[in-house]
Amino acid sequence: MPGFFNEPEDTSPATSDPATQDYEAAVSMPTPQVSASDALAKGGSKGGVQLAPAVVAFEESRDKGLVGSKRLDNAFHAVTSAQEDFNAYNGTTSRGIVNKSGDMISAITTDVGDAQSALSPLKSAYESEAMKTIRDGVNTLVNSLPGLIKALDEVAKLHPFIGIAVGAFRIVVELDLKRRDNDKKIASLFLEMKDMMEALLQLDNIKDRDAVGPGGMTIEARMQNLVKQTADDITACGNACDTYAKKRLIVKVIKGSVRDSTLKNYIDIFAKRRKDFTFALAIHTGAGVDDANRKLDTLDNKMDAILEFFAKAVSPEQQEMAALVQKRGGSMAVMGSRDALSELLRLKPTAAAKHGEREASQRNIHSDEDDLESLRIELFESPAAAIRNNLEVFERKLKMQQRVFAEEMRGMVHHEGDRVIDAVTSGPHDRIIDPDIHEIWKEMRWRGHVKARHFVLTLRDYYRQQIETKKRARGESFITSIHDDDEWALEWININRLQAIAEAFDDDASGFITIAEVNQFTSSRPKGWSLLHWLAYWAIGWQMTATYYRDKINDLFAQMFAMRPRIHSANAEAVLKYLLVVYKRSVKFTSSFNGTYQADSLKARFQSYMDAEEQRLREGLETVRYDIDAMDTLTLVTGPGRIEKSLFALLYLLLKRDHQIFRLCQKMIVHKDELWDAADTIMWVYDAAVNRYDDLKELFKQQRADPVQQFKSYASELFNYCHDSTEFFSLENLRKLEWTECEYVEENEEQNIDSKIILNYPSAVHNLCSITEDIVSNGDTLADNDVKSILGRWYGLIGAERWPVTAIVSFCFHASADANTYEASDVAAHGTGYTVHGGYIKKDDGTVEYNFSRTYMARLRQSYFTGTLDGDGERLSGSWGYSETEKPYRFMFWKNVPPETLIARPPPSEFEENKTKALWKYALTAAHNEARRKLFSWSYIKERRAIRKEYLELLERETDDLNTTTDFDRFAVLERTSTCEDVRRFYVSRDYHQRPVPTHFARCDACRELIRGARLICIDCRGKDTLDLCDKPACREATKTREDLTQPHLPTHAFAKARRVLNHIRDYGKLIRLSDAGLERARQLLDGAARAREATGDSKIAQSKTETKSAGGSREEADTMGSGTSTTVTQPVCVSCSSKVSYPCWYCVDCPADANIFVCNNCDEKNGGITVGEHLNTHSLVSCKVRVAEDSVEKSTEQRLSAVESKLTVLTAQIEKLMELMAAPRPS
Ligand SMILES: [Zn+2]
Ligand SMILES: [Zn+2]
Ligand SMILES: [Zn+2]
Ligand SMILES: [Zn+2]
Repeated sequence: MPGFFNEPEDTSPATSDPATQDYEAAVSMPTPQVSASDALAKGGSKGGVQLAPAVVAFEESRDKGLVGSKRLDNAFHAVTSAQEDFNAYNGTTSRGIVNKSGDMISAITTDVGDAQSALSPLKSAYESEAMKTIRDGVNTLVNSLPGLIKALDEVAKLHPFIGIAVGAFRIVVELDLKRRDNDKKIASLFLEMKDMMEALLQLDNIKDRDAVGPGGMTIEARMQNLVKQTADDITACGNACDTYAKKRLIVKVIKGSVRDSTLKNYIDIFAKRRKDFTFALAIHTGAGVDDANRKLDTLDNKMDAILEFFAKAVSPEQQEMAALVQKRGGSMAVMGSRDALSELLRLKPTAAAKHGEREASQRNIHSDEDDLESLRIELFESPAAAIRNNLEVFERKLKMQQRVFAEEMRGMVHHEGDRVIDAVTSGPHDRIIDPDIHEIWKEMRWRGHVKARHFVLTLRDYYRQQIETKKRARGESFITSIHDDDEWALEWININRLQAIAEAFDDDASGFITIAEVNQFTSSRPKGWSLLHWLAYWAIGWQMTATYYRDKINDLFAQMFAMRPRIHSANAEAVLKYLLVVYKRSVKFTSSFNGTYQADSLKARFQSYMDAEEQRLREGLETVRYDIDAMDTLTLVTGPGRIEKSLFALLYLLLKRDHQIFRLCQKMIVHKDELWDAADTIMWVYDAAVNRYDDLKELFKQQRADPVQQFKSYASELFNYCHDSTEFFSLENLRKLEWTECEYVEENEEQNIDSKIILNYPSAVHNLCSITEDIVSNGDTLADNDVKSILGRWYGLIGAERWPVTAIVSFCFHASADANTYEASDVAAHGTGYTVHGGYIKKDDGTVEYNFSRTYMARLRQSYFTGTLDGDGERLSGSWGYSETEKPYRFMFWKNVPPETLIARPPPSEFEENKTKALWKYALTAAHNEARRKLFSWSYIKERRAIRKEYLELLERETDDLNTTTDFDRFAVLERTSTCEDVRRFYVSRDYHQRPVPTHFARCDACRELIRGARLICIDCRGKDTLDLCDKPACREATKTREDLTQPHLPTHAFAKARRVLNHIRDYGKLIRLSDAGLERARQLLDGAARAREATGDSKIAQSKTETKSAGGSREEADTMGSGTSTTVTQPVCVSCSSKVSYPCWYCVDCPADANIFVCNNCDEKNGGITVGEHLNTHSLVSCKVRVAEDSVEKSTEQRLSAVESKLTVLTAQIEKLMELMAAPRPS
């Protein structure tokens, strides 16, 4: 191993080492591939077609493929439509901003106890005059941006070289608007970005772009690089904002200052660029630089205010969280305490609005434990790393946004007969593009909007009339917009479909249709489709299409559920979790939706549009690699408008890919985050649908319509169960429900699937610790000599009660910024990251004492080390402990001893006993190991394998907290003889190793623990929830009352016993039905046998006894015995031990009914389920118990009483009749 400082210094770019990455490199990550002048040349060569120069330059520089097919009638269409978007956005967001700042101010003036100290400076800051300007700027930002972009586009026409920056600006602005959150920090960043871009408007004064300024340079030559750099800054800033926005509230609070400084950098950069722009222009035009300077001074003042605003911009929920963090001892204390973190994680600030809800729902997806884990990772990730990791995702988003812009331009299809809108209009109707609707609107003298219902009815009448006239005028020349091949469509424009048609026009469900909505509707129709065709699609076609996808979704789910037993055990947990999360929410929509099936000929009429839409969605999903990580990404994929338009098609495409992942899960170990991400992606889709539901509910309320009734018809009942699904998900209903079931046949599936295309993560096996290369950093070379001698990679052992107490430790010391301290960060063998940080003291005698501490990413205690160097500076040893003052344990680190050698080293005790002997042993073992390893010796492999096996067993026990002293001793031995990488591998395989005992998604009603092993479900109790127990005697025998149960649960109730993890919605009903039926059969057999025994006496019993003895538990003999006796009365026997069974025992409900598999209590208990022949240990069983006398007496008394009662009633009636007859006068 070469010495640390011998490493060539310049072998790799600075970017490969995050610690040395300077600020310039950090901000210029997404680098456009083509320089601005190249882009310009291409932009100019678009023969005749005028393109928005900004968009072209930017797009070409990033993705040349997209632009080729673009046709643009109007260069500014995109801008105008952006304007519309902004207006729409205005309606929602800017109002939100105002409300929020209102909230904020009220929060500021409210005393929030602990938070008060944090609040007071804020109060004054908000009241200051300078701050008011900024606040206004932030609040009106969304309104001012579209105008600016439009103006910049104008300037870019004159000076195309700025196009690259304008394009980047536009895309990043658009992406930010889609995010729909109102983070003030990000807003202030955009305010500065906006100011910078505004400086470019001065270019408008330079009309002659070829004019040469001082120094013989054109303005383009002068500014070109600056502009390109700016484009990079803007995209990098967009990525930083995107990363920041995705962080959870608690991360934003705890890591606030670090993240703030990252964002603040951009404020500085943009301010600097703005200066650069202004100076470049001043020089070019020869205008007074003094003048420019004066202008900049005022701008500088403004920037200070912005920075102040930035620092103070804290949302109410952030304040609330900050107060809580403070209460628990501040950020550092919270980060170090697992309990405090999980407490804060569970907390939902009262001030939190919609995204807070999302956080809550996220919690439901993943267990608290998993969530805590991911939170810790987020907390300990450095902002630079977070931004780097987000880059890939962000670039996908950029691409998507470009695609959207390109599509918008392509989408300006001019439909045949469309009216040209003049600037001069005589009424609102003149703004309508479609000639037919224009006519109607004019005729009806409607103003800006009209009631949806009224509109659709008028539309229908209009078309009816047209067709009448057309028929009458047959042969004569009569001009109508209705073609013969469109007449079929009229059938669907009727009163029954009114609701569907109105929904299609009325995108915001306001009950009114506006002119904008009309134009939006008519111009969005596919090319070549008449308006009638388009109307028919929304009248019936959408429902048909949704039905088609709904059925596809059901099929996919049926297959995915059927695949469960085939899944590789390492993936089983991930698969079950995925289904748990995704299925319930899916069912809520798919079961609620009211489908329709129509003739194939009608389907064919809509096929082209359906295919095009599916293609569009698929391409969008492929661009983001089927990974939707936020609402804005989803909007980019679906496009604008109601989510219900494409909900099922989108889900179908997502599930289709997840179905492929399931298939891969059968044969390979898939990274555990793969399905986790997949489930999260689908959750975002459902979140969007639920948001839509919330909006609709609000609207219905405003319109004073009954939501219950509305949701029973709106969008073919799609949202009905969103509104109320209690009945649907009730146990009573689940008992009855039967789901589509199918058998999964792998051979029927497409065989050539490429895991590399489907999966986003590398296979789990390759995801061990990443081996970092140790590169000498700039700081290292500047460190003082005493620090220099400790730098580099160390391998070591840390001991305490045992030697060692953890696996071999390895990290690389680098110099810290201040040249007399040093630090390292690495990942421990068990997967937890840590940092080491330290300094040194020079003693009087000249020895140098190194002191450092190791801090974990939470959970584990901090430890402190004091040591000295010896052995030519190759060994660092000393003492350590859990406090700075007390260090009772020892440690030893080596610099040039690789871990493969280190594992041969005997423990210190052997060295103390006999140093020579120990050294000799060390050398021999190391050499021996080395030789065996190089030869791949069988004994070596076997030895390593045994270590792995034992280590995993110990870990398994550790998870259950069962480790004994002997176990810890073994841990020490194994860790001493395994490298850090080995142990890391053990931990990874534990993560993917299915625990032999399944954990159910249910808690025991008796002991409240999560149920592990077998789950008992009472099939007699009928509450709101299942009554579940674990299969432990204490719980099994428990009597339990529960609020939702009318009768207490008794141990005599019948149980279904499940050993497979059930999906509540999918499996519960089936299990209960099977159990009911199984119990019935089992009772018949058991009762029959008992009766037979009573009747035939002892001879029969004796015979079975001898048979049982000879059977000896073998399956075949049990079978023959079964069939042999079946001619008379079958005597049920245990499938395992073949002894006769009677109450109480178990009966299999998964094996075919005629197999009649019984298992005796003994066998089941002993083995935790047994496998014999076709019967598997994972099969579900139903308990066969003696009907309890007490209970039955009670019942029969009751029954008898009621029987007597009914008899009495009958008798009374008869007597009354008799009396009547007797009283009646005899017929004479
Ligand atoms: Zn229990
Ligand atoms: Zn019960
Ligand atoms: Zn048995
Ligand atoms: Zn079975």
